[in-house]
Amino acid sequence: MRIGHGYDVHRLTEGRKLILGGVDIPFEKGLDGHSDADVLVHALMDAILGALALGDIGKLFPDTDPEYKGADSMKLLDKVCELLEDSEYVFSNADMTICCQQPKLAPYIMEMRTNIANVIGCDVSRISVKATTEEHLGFTGEGLGISATAVVLLENV
Ligand code: MG
Repeated sequence: MRIGHGYDVHRLTEGRKLILGGVDIPFEKGLDGHSDADVLVHALMDAILGALALGDIGKLFPDTDPEYKGADSMKLLDKVCELLEDSEYVFSNADMTICCQQPKLAPYIMEMRTNIANVIGCDVSRISVKATTEEHLGFTGEGLGISATAVVLLENV
């Protein structure tokens, strides 16, 4: 088995969509970034790449590359899954946590899990997405940004 961990942060700003786990969430602000800034999927991709010891998404999809401007992170996840298919490992499960003061994410969690499971090609029961606030503390608590962590387990085929 191989384990991988991912962490990502994006700043909340006006005039951007809030995309988390491929879900367009209605909110007055969105995450800033070169791609669609889907912080959850970015953490997940880094966890998969980490388990494979293949670096990170900054190396794979540089933010200096115009190809990735406004990129749909689910499509980037699909590319990371191709690397996984080329490896001697298969996806087992992922557990992710989003740290977000606002908006409330509970109504969107199932759709995020389903979107991610569809791209990876696994049952939704293997994809866990949780959300927490940080009790108004720090940058997520003050609503300045959203962070996400992901842990992934791969199994040898
Ligand atoms: Mg990112």
